[in-house]
Amino acid sequence: MSGSVQWTKDYAEDLDGRDPLRRYRMEFYLRPNTIYLDGNSLGLLSKRAEKSLLACLEDWKEWGIDGWTHGRHPWFYLSEQLGEKLALFIGAEPQEVILTGSTTVNLHQLVSTFYKPEGKRTKILADALTFPSDIYALQSQLSLRGLSLEEHLMQVQSRDGRMLAEDDLVAAMSEEVALIILPTVLYRSGQLLDIEKLTTEAHKRGILIGFDACHSVGAVAHEFSKWNVDFAFWCNYKYLNGGPGCVAGLYVNRKHLGNRPGLAGWFGSKKEKQFDMEFLFHPADSAGAYQIGTPHILSLAPLIGSLDMFMEAGIENIRKKSLQLTQYLMDLIHHELGEYSFTIGNPLEDHCRGGHVCLEHDEAVRITKALKVNRVIPDFRSPNIIRLAPVALYNSYSDIWQVVQILKTIMVEKQYEKFSKDRDVVA
Ligand SMILES: *Cc1c(COP(=O)(O)O)cnc(C)c1O
Repeated sequence: MSGSVQWTKDYAEDLDGRDPLRRYRMEFYLRPNTIYLDGNSLGLLSKRAEKSLLACLEDWKEWGIDGWTHGRHPWFYLSEQLGEKLALFIGAEPQEVILTGSTTVNLHQLVSTFYKPEGKRTKILADALTFPSDIYALQSQLSLRGLSLEEHLMQVQSRDGRMLAEDDLVAAMSEEVALIILPTVLYRSGQLLDIEKLTTEAHKRGILIGFDACHSVGAVAHEFSKWNVDFAFWCNYKYLNGGPGCVAGLYVNRKHLGNRPGLAGWFGSKKEKQFDMEFLFHPADSAGAYQIGTPHILSLAPLIGSLDMFMEAGIENIRKKSLQLTQYLMDLIHHELGEYSFTIGNPLEDHCRGGHVCLEHDEAVRITKALKVNRVIPDFRSPNIIRLAPVALYNSYSDIWQVVQILKTIMVEKQYEKFSKDRDVVA
Protein backbone atom coordinates (compact mmCIF):
# COMPACT_ATOMS: atom_id res chain seq x y z
CA MET A 1 0.00 0.00 0.00
CA SER A 2 2.85 2.46 0.79
CA GLY A 3 3.93 4.37 -2.26
CA SER A 4 0.54 5.21 -3.70
CA VAL A 5 -1.04 6.03 -0.33
CA GLN A 6 -2.73 9.42 -0.01
CA TRP A 7 -3.50 11.26 3.20
CA THR A 8 -7.04 12.44 2.56
CA LYS A 9 -10.34 11.23 3.97
CA ASP A 10 -11.52 10.70 0.38
CA TYR A 11 -8.75 8.19 -0.11
CA ALA A 12 -9.91 6.20 2.96
CA GLU A 13 -13.49 6.28 1.73
CA ASP A 14 -12.37 5.11 -1.68
CA LEU A 15 -10.59 2.13 -0.09
CA ASP A 16 -13.78 1.33 1.85
CA GLY A 17 -15.79 1.46 -1.37
CA ARG A 18 -13.51 -1.13 -2.94
CA ASP A 19 -13.27 -3.37 0.14
CA PRO A 20 -14.73 -6.83 -0.66
CA LEU A 21 -15.40 -7.45 3.06
CA ARG A 22 -17.17 -4.16 3.78
CA ARG A 23 -20.64 -5.65 4.09
CA TYR A 24 -19.70 -7.59 7.23
CA ARG A 25 -19.39 -4.38 9.25
CA MET A 26 -23.20 -4.09 9.14
CA GLU A 27 -23.45 -7.45 10.86
CA PHE A 28 -21.79 -6.27 14.09
CA TYR A 29 -23.01 -4.30 17.06
CA LEU A 30 -20.81 -1.22 16.83
CA ARG A 31 -21.47 1.45 19.43
CA PRO A 32 -22.54 4.73 17.82
CA ASN A 33 -19.74 7.20 17.08
CA THR A 34 -17.19 4.86 18.59
CA ILE A 35 -14.20 3.28 16.90
CA TYR A 36 -13.39 -0.09 18.41
CA LEU A 37 -9.76 -1.18 18.01
CA ASP A 38 -9.63 -3.72 20.81
CA GLY A 39 -10.75 -6.82 18.91
CA ASN A 40 -7.54 -8.58 19.94
CA SER A 41 -8.69 -8.49 23.58
CA LEU A 42 -12.41 -9.01 23.13
CA GLY A 43 -14.01 -9.19 19.70
CA LEU A 44 -17.41 -7.56 19.18
CA LEU A 45 -20.78 -9.29 19.07
CA SER A 46 -22.18 -10.05 15.63
CA LYS A 47 -25.85 -10.50 14.86
CA ARG A 48 -25.18 -14.04 13.69
CA ALA A 49 -23.48 -14.93 16.97
CA GLU A 50 -26.37 -13.42 18.92
CA LYS A 51 -28.83 -15.41 16.82
CA SER A 52 -27.05 -18.72 17.34
CA LEU A 53 -26.85 -18.12 21.10
CA LEU A 54 -30.57 -17.33 21.27
CA ALA A 55 -31.36 -20.39 19.16
CA CYS A 56 -29.43 -22.48 21.66
CA LEU A 57 -31.54 -21.09 24.51
CA GLU A 58 -34.65 -21.94 22.50
CA ASP A 59 -33.44 -25.51 22.11
CA TRP A 60 -32.95 -25.72 25.87
CA LYS A 61 -36.49 -24.36 26.37
CA GLU A 62 -37.96 -26.79 23.92
CA TRP A 63 -35.93 -29.95 24.48
CA GLY A 64 -34.57 -29.92 28.03
CA ILE A 65 -32.20 -32.87 28.42
CA ASP A 66 -32.95 -34.03 24.88
CA GLY A 67 -31.14 -30.99 23.54
CA TRP A 68 -27.99 -33.12 23.77
CA THR A 69 -29.18 -35.14 20.80
CA HIS A 70 -32.01 -33.05 19.29
CA GLY A 71 -32.60 -29.47 18.25
CA ARG A 72 -30.77 -27.34 15.72
CA HIS A 73 -27.25 -28.12 16.91
CA PRO A 74 -27.28 -31.19 19.18
CA TRP A 75 -24.98 -30.31 22.07
CA PHE A 76 -23.34 -33.71 22.30
CA TYR A 77 -21.54 -33.15 18.99
CA LEU A 78 -21.16 -29.37 18.99
CA SER A 79 -17.52 -29.17 20.19
CA GLU A 80 -16.42 -31.58 17.45
CA GLN A 81 -18.53 -29.93 14.75
CA LEU A 82 -17.22 -26.45 15.48
CA GLY A 83 -13.70 -27.85 15.68
CA GLU A 84 -14.11 -29.17 12.13
CA LYS A 85 -15.02 -25.68 10.93
CA LEU A 86 -12.18 -24.04 12.78
CA ALA A 87 -9.76 -26.55 11.27
CA LEU A 88 -10.12 -24.65 7.98
CA PHE A 89 -8.55 -21.50 9.44
CA ILE A 90 -5.51 -23.22 10.93
CA GLY A 91 -4.80 -25.73 8.17
CA ALA A 92 -5.76 -28.81 10.15
CA GLU A 93 -7.70 -31.97 9.49
CA PRO A 94 -11.18 -32.09 11.03
CA GLN A 95 -10.28 -34.72 13.64
CA GLU A 96 -7.25 -32.71 14.82
CA VAL A 97 -9.28 -29.86 16.35
CA ILE A 98 -11.64 -29.67 19.32
CA LEU A 99 -13.23 -26.68 21.01
CA THR A 100 -12.93 -27.12 24.73
CA GLY A 101 -11.76 -25.54 27.98
CA SER A 102 -9.91 -22.25 28.10
CA THR A 103 -6.51 -21.27 26.77
CA THR A 104 -4.72 -21.81 30.04
CA VAL A 105 -6.56 -25.06 30.87
CA ASN A 106 -5.76 -26.39 27.40
CA LEU A 107 -2.10 -25.57 27.92
CA HIS A 108 -2.23 -27.55 31.17
CA GLN A 109 -3.86 -30.44 29.34
CA LEU A 110 -1.26 -30.44 26.55
CA VAL A 111 1.74 -30.13 28.86
CA SER A 112 0.30 -32.89 31.06
CA THR A 113 0.15 -35.04 27.94
CA PHE A 114 3.27 -34.13 26.00
CA TYR A 115 5.87 -33.18 28.61
CA LYS A 116 7.79 -36.38 29.34
CA PRO A 117 11.10 -35.51 31.01
CA GLU A 118 13.52 -38.38 30.52
CA GLY A 119 17.24 -38.75 31.19
CA LYS A 120 19.00 -35.52 30.20
CA ARG A 121 15.97 -34.21 28.32
CA THR A 122 13.98 -32.51 31.07
CA LYS A 123 13.64 -28.83 30.19
CA ILE A 124 10.73 -26.80 28.89
CA LEU A 125 11.73 -23.99 26.54
CA ALA A 126 9.58 -20.83 26.41
CA ASP A 127 10.33 -17.13 25.87
CA ALA A 128 10.64 -14.03 27.99
CA LEU A 129 7.92 -12.07 26.18
CA THR A 130 5.10 -14.57 26.42
CA PHE A 131 1.73 -14.11 28.10
CA PRO A 132 2.21 -14.56 31.88
CA SER A 133 -0.59 -17.11 32.28
CA ASP A 134 1.39 -19.52 30.08
CA ILE A 135 4.40 -19.20 32.34
CA TYR A 136 2.30 -19.73 35.48
CA ALA A 137 0.94 -22.91 33.92
CA LEU A 138 4.42 -24.17 33.00
CA GLN A 139 5.76 -23.34 36.47
CA SER A 140 2.96 -25.24 38.16
CA GLN A 141 3.40 -28.21 35.82
CA LEU A 142 7.05 -28.42 36.85
CA SER A 143 6.20 -28.00 40.53
CA LEU A 144 3.63 -30.79 40.34
CA ARG A 145 6.39 -33.11 39.15
CA GLY A 146 8.76 -31.93 41.86
CA LEU A 147 11.12 -30.30 39.36
CA SER A 148 12.89 -27.01 40.10
CA LEU A 149 11.84 -24.04 38.00
CA GLU A 150 15.33 -22.53 37.85
CA GLU A 151 16.71 -25.65 36.30
CA HIS A 152 13.87 -26.77 34.07
CA LEU A 153 12.13 -23.68 32.70
CA MET A 154 14.17 -21.75 30.13
CA GLN A 155 12.85 -18.43 28.80
CA VAL A 156 14.70 -17.15 25.74
CA GLN A 157 15.37 -13.43 26.13
CA SER A 158 14.55 -10.77 23.58
CA ARG A 159 17.40 -8.60 22.26
CA ASP A 160 15.33 -5.41 22.12
CA GLY A 161 12.45 -6.11 24.53
CA ARG A 162 10.01 -6.29 21.61
CA MET A 163 10.84 -9.17 19.31
CA LEU A 164 12.25 -12.67 19.54
CA ALA A 165 15.11 -13.58 17.21
CA GLU A 166 14.34 -16.96 15.64
CA ASP A 167 18.07 -17.74 15.65
CA ASP A 168 18.13 -17.30 19.43
CA LEU A 169 15.18 -19.65 19.81
CA VAL A 170 16.85 -22.27 17.62
CA ALA A 171 20.15 -21.86 19.47
CA ALA A 172 18.35 -22.63 22.75
CA MET A 173 16.97 -25.95 21.41
CA SER A 174 19.57 -28.09 23.16
CA GLU A 175 19.50 -31.80 23.85
CA GLU A 176 18.26 -31.00 27.35
CA VAL A 177 14.97 -29.64 26.00
CA ALA A 178 11.95 -31.96 26.07
CA LEU A 179 9.21 -29.52 25.06
CA ILE A 180 8.89 -26.06 23.49
CA ILE A 181 5.94 -23.70 24.02
CA LEU A 182 5.93 -20.48 21.99
CA PRO A 183 3.35 -17.92 20.89
CA THR A 184 2.42 -17.68 17.21
CA VAL A 185 2.04 -13.90 17.56
CA LEU A 186 3.49 -12.02 20.55
CA TYR A 187 0.73 -10.29 22.49
CA ARG A 188 2.60 -7.00 22.91
CA SER A 189 4.70 -6.35 19.81
CA GLY A 190 2.48 -8.34 17.45
CA GLN A 191 5.48 -10.22 16.01
CA LEU A 192 4.44 -13.30 14.01
CA LEU A 193 7.00 -16.08 14.43
CA ASP A 194 8.06 -18.40 11.62
CA ILE A 195 6.10 -21.38 12.89
CA GLU A 196 7.18 -23.72 10.11
CA LYS A 197 10.87 -23.02 10.57
CA LEU A 198 10.76 -23.34 14.35
CA THR A 199 8.83 -26.61 14.09
CA THR A 200 11.32 -28.05 11.60
CA GLU A 201 14.28 -27.02 13.76
CA ALA A 202 12.69 -28.47 16.91
CA HIS A 203 11.96 -31.78 15.21
CA LYS A 204 15.51 -32.02 13.82
CA ARG A 205 16.60 -32.06 17.46
CA GLY A 206 13.94 -34.52 18.61
CA ILE A 207 11.93 -31.91 20.54
CA LEU A 208 8.13 -31.56 20.60
CA ILE A 209 6.78 -28.07 19.92
CA GLY A 210 3.40 -26.44 20.61
CA PHE A 211 2.05 -22.94 20.02
CA ASP A 212 -0.21 -20.49 21.84
CA ALA A 213 -2.23 -19.09 18.95
CA CYS A 214 -4.47 -16.64 20.85
CA HIS A 215 -3.24 -13.66 18.86
CA SER A 216 -3.41 -15.24 15.44
CA VAL A 217 -6.43 -17.53 15.11
CA GLY A 218 -9.06 -15.60 13.17
CA ALA A 219 -6.57 -12.99 11.94
CA VAL A 220 -3.72 -15.01 10.38
CA ALA A 221 -4.09 -18.23 8.36
CA HIS A 222 -1.98 -21.16 9.55
CA GLU A 223 -0.95 -24.52 8.08
CA PHE A 224 -0.39 -26.43 11.29
CA SER A 225 -0.75 -29.87 9.70
CA LYS A 226 1.51 -29.13 6.75
CA TRP A 227 4.12 -27.62 9.07
CA ASN A 228 3.85 -30.68 11.30
CA VAL A 229 3.24 -28.64 14.48
CA ASP A 230 2.72 -31.05 17.40
CA PHE A 231 -0.07 -29.11 19.09
CA ALA A 232 -1.60 -25.67 19.54
CA PHE A 233 -4.16 -23.94 21.76
CA TRP A 234 -5.96 -20.58 21.60
CA CYS A 235 -8.94 -18.58 22.81
CA ASN A 236 -11.96 -17.77 20.66
CA TYR A 237 -13.00 -14.49 22.28
CA LYS A 238 -10.41 -12.31 20.56
CA TYR A 239 -10.39 -12.28 16.75
CA LEU A 240 -13.10 -14.96 16.46
CA ASN A 241 -15.68 -12.88 18.37
CA GLY A 242 -17.05 -15.77 20.45
CA GLY A 243 -17.85 -13.58 23.47
CA PRO A 244 -16.32 -13.11 26.94
CA GLY A 245 -15.07 -16.43 28.30
CA CYS A 246 -15.94 -18.27 25.08
CA VAL A 247 -14.83 -21.92 24.95
CA ALA A 248 -11.25 -22.20 23.64
CA GLY A 249 -9.58 -24.34 20.98
CA LEU A 250 -7.03 -27.11 20.88
CA TYR A 251 -5.17 -28.74 17.98
CA VAL A 252 -3.28 -32.03 18.19
CA ASN A 253 -1.37 -33.36 15.18
CA ARG A 254 -2.88 -36.61 13.87
CA LYS A 255 0.38 -38.47 14.51
CA HIS A 256 -0.30 -38.07 18.24
CA LEU A 257 -3.97 -39.04 18.14
CA GLY A 258 -4.97 -42.21 19.92
CA ASN A 259 -2.63 -41.52 22.88
CA ARG A 260 -4.06 -41.05 26.33
CA PRO A 261 -4.58 -37.42 27.37
CA GLY A 262 -2.69 -36.31 30.48
CA LEU A 263 -5.90 -35.09 32.11
CA ALA A 264 -8.72 -37.50 31.42
CA GLY A 265 -12.46 -37.02 31.84
CA TRP A 266 -15.60 -38.64 30.50
CA PHE A 267 -16.13 -36.18 27.63
CA GLY A 268 -12.83 -37.37 26.19
CA SER A 269 -14.36 -40.80 25.62
CA LYS A 270 -15.22 -42.37 22.30
CA LYS A 271 -18.69 -41.02 21.68
CA GLU A 272 -20.29 -44.43 21.45
CA LYS A 273 -18.65 -45.56 24.72
CA GLN A 274 -19.21 -42.50 26.90
CA PHE A 275 -22.61 -43.50 28.20
CA ASP A 276 -21.64 -47.11 28.91
CA MET A 277 -20.41 -45.63 32.21
CA GLU A 278 -17.57 -48.12 32.59
CA PHE A 279 -14.58 -47.33 34.79
CA LEU A 280 -12.25 -48.21 31.93
CA PHE A 281 -11.59 -45.05 29.91
CA HIS A 282 -11.74 -45.39 26.12
CA PRO A 283 -10.30 -42.13 24.73
CA ALA A 284 -11.62 -40.85 21.40
CA ASP A 285 -9.36 -41.32 18.36
CA SER A 286 -9.64 -37.62 17.62
CA ALA A 287 -8.61 -34.41 19.40
CA GLY A 288 -11.93 -34.88 21.19
CA ALA A 289 -9.98 -37.10 23.62
CA TYR A 290 -8.57 -33.92 25.20
CA GLN A 291 -11.95 -32.80 26.52
CA ILE A 292 -12.46 -33.24 30.24
CA GLY A 293 -16.02 -32.54 31.44
CA THR A 294 -19.35 -31.39 30.06
CA PRO A 295 -18.87 -28.67 27.41
CA HIS A 296 -19.98 -25.09 28.21
CA ILE A 297 -22.66 -25.07 25.54
CA LEU A 298 -23.87 -21.50 26.09
CA SER A 299 -20.29 -20.26 25.73
CA LEU A 300 -19.88 -22.22 22.52
CA ALA A 301 -23.15 -21.20 20.91
CA PRO A 302 -22.07 -17.74 19.67
CA LEU A 303 -19.32 -19.43 17.65
CA ILE A 304 -21.90 -21.25 15.52
CA GLY A 305 -22.91 -17.94 13.95
CA SER A 306 -19.49 -16.36 14.12
CA LEU A 307 -17.64 -19.23 12.40
CA ASP A 308 -20.22 -19.25 9.60
CA MET A 309 -19.29 -15.67 8.90
CA PHE A 310 -15.57 -16.49 8.89
CA MET A 311 -16.12 -19.41 6.52
CA GLU A 312 -18.08 -17.18 4.18
CA ALA A 313 -15.57 -14.32 4.28
CA GLY A 314 -12.51 -16.61 3.99
CA ILE A 315 -9.47 -16.42 6.24
CA GLU A 316 -7.17 -15.47 3.33
CA ASN A 317 -9.33 -12.43 2.55
CA ILE A 318 -9.42 -11.52 6.24
CA ARG A 319 -5.62 -11.72 6.54
CA LYS A 320 -5.18 -9.65 3.39
CA LYS A 321 -7.42 -6.86 4.63
CA SER A 322 -5.92 -7.02 8.12
CA LEU A 323 -2.43 -6.46 6.68
CA GLN A 324 -3.69 -3.57 4.57
CA LEU A 325 -5.38 -1.96 7.58
CA THR A 326 -2.29 -2.19 9.79
CA GLN A 327 -0.05 -0.96 6.94
CA TYR A 328 -2.35 2.00 6.31
CA LEU A 329 -2.39 2.78 10.02
CA MET A 330 1.42 2.73 10.18
CA ASP A 331 1.69 4.90 7.06
CA LEU A 332 -0.67 7.48 8.52
CA ILE A 333 1.12 7.46 11.89
CA HIS A 334 4.43 8.13 10.11
CA HIS A 335 2.95 10.91 8.06
CA GLU A 336 0.75 12.65 10.64
CA LEU A 337 2.45 12.00 13.98
CA GLY A 338 6.12 12.14 13.04
CA GLU A 339 6.96 14.90 15.52
CA TYR A 340 5.23 13.44 18.60
CA SER A 341 7.76 10.83 19.77
CA PHE A 342 5.75 7.72 18.94
CA THR A 343 7.62 4.52 18.13
CA ILE A 344 6.13 1.69 16.14
CA GLY A 345 7.09 -1.41 18.13
CA ASN A 346 5.74 -4.11 15.81
CA PRO A 347 7.50 -5.69 12.82
CA LEU A 348 7.05 -3.64 9.65
CA GLU A 349 7.17 -6.53 7.15
CA ASP A 350 3.96 -8.35 6.29
CA HIS A 351 5.32 -11.85 6.84
CA CYS A 352 6.19 -11.24 10.48
CA ARG A 353 3.37 -8.89 11.50
CA GLY A 354 0.26 -10.18 13.28
CA GLY A 355 -3.06 -8.36 13.50
CA HIS A 356 -2.27 -5.28 15.55
CA VAL A 357 -0.09 -2.19 15.63
CA CYS A 358 2.00 -1.69 18.76
CA LEU A 359 2.37 2.03 19.31
CA GLU A 360 4.83 3.03 22.02
CA HIS A 361 4.91 6.35 23.83
CA ASP A 362 6.10 7.53 27.27
CA GLU A 363 2.63 8.97 27.85
CA ALA A 364 0.82 5.82 26.68
CA VAL A 365 -1.44 5.54 29.78
CA ARG A 366 -2.71 9.09 29.50
CA ILE A 367 -3.00 9.00 25.71
CA THR A 368 -5.11 5.82 26.04
CA LYS A 369 -7.43 7.65 28.44
CA ALA A 370 -7.70 10.60 26.06
CA LEU A 371 -8.50 8.24 23.19
CA LYS A 372 -11.33 6.69 25.21
CA VAL A 373 -12.81 10.11 25.96
CA ASN A 374 -12.69 10.72 22.21
CA ARG A 375 -14.59 7.43 21.72
CA VAL A 376 -11.71 5.41 20.38
CA ILE A 377 -11.24 2.07 22.18
CA PRO A 378 -7.61 0.94 22.11
CA ASP A 379 -5.86 -1.33 24.56
CA PHE A 380 -3.09 -0.37 26.96
CA ARG A 381 -0.23 -2.67 27.97
CA SER A 382 2.05 -1.52 30.75
CA PRO A 383 4.23 0.46 30.76
CA ASN A 384 4.18 2.25 27.41
CA ILE A 385 2.20 0.35 24.77
CA ILE A 386 -1.01 1.32 23.01
CA ARG A 387 -2.25 -1.64 21.01
CA LEU A 388 -4.42 -0.79 18.02
CA ALA A 389 -6.10 -3.77 16.38
CA PRO A 390 -8.12 -2.99 13.27
CA VAL A 391 -10.30 -6.03 12.66
CA ALA A 392 -11.01 -6.99 9.05
CA LEU A 393 -14.68 -7.84 9.49
CA TYR A 394 -15.77 -4.72 11.32
CA ASN A 395 -13.21 -1.93 11.00
CA SER A 396 -13.00 0.33 7.97
CA TYR A 397 -10.21 2.33 6.37
CA SER A 398 -12.18 5.43 7.39
CA ASP A 399 -11.95 4.27 11.03
CA ILE A 400 -8.18 4.24 10.67
CA TRP A 401 -8.04 7.65 9.07
CA GLN A 402 -10.23 9.09 11.81
CA VAL A 403 -8.28 7.51 14.66
CA VAL A 404 -5.05 9.07 13.44
CA GLN A 405 -6.75 12.48 13.16
CA ILE A 406 -8.02 12.09 16.73
CA LEU A 407 -4.57 11.06 17.96
CA LYS A 408 -3.08 14.07 16.26
CA THR A 409 -5.54 16.41 17.94
CA ILE A 410 -4.82 14.79 21.32
CA MET A 411 -1.10 15.42 20.80
CA VAL A 412 -1.40 18.95 19.35
CA GLU A 413 -3.72 20.06 22.17
CA LYS A 414 -1.88 17.97 24.80
CA GLN A 415 -5.27 16.61 25.89
CA TYR A 416 -3.58 13.73 27.71
CA GLU A 417 -2.21 16.10 30.35
CA LYS A 418 -5.69 16.24 31.91
CA PHE A 419 -5.54 12.58 32.98
CA SER A 420 -3.81 10.73 35.82
CA LYS A 421 -1.02 8.26 35.15
CA ASP A 422 -2.63 5.35 37.04
CA ARG A 423 -3.81 2.51 34.91
CA ASP A 424 -7.24 0.87 35.28
CA VAL A 425 -7.59 -2.66 36.69
CA VAL A 426 -8.42 -4.16 33.30
CA ALA A 427 -5.96 -2.55 30.92
C1 LIG B 1 -5.55 -13.85 25.80
C2 LIG B 1 -4.43 -14.76 25.99
C3 LIG B 1 -4.46 -15.78 26.94
C4 LIG B 1 -5.63 -15.90 27.86
O1 LIG B 1 -5.77 -17.13 28.48
P1 LIG B 1 -7.22 -17.54 29.04
O2 LIG B 1 -6.98 -18.86 29.65
O3 LIG B 1 -8.14 -17.53 27.87
O4 LIG B 1 -7.63 -16.51 30.04
C5 LIG B 1 -3.38 -16.66 27.00
N1 LIG B 1 -2.32 -16.52 26.17
C6 LIG B 1 -2.26 -15.51 25.27
C7 LIG B 1 -1.07 -15.38 24.37
C8 LIG B 1 -3.29 -14.61 25.16
O5 LIG B 1 -3.22 -13.61 24.28
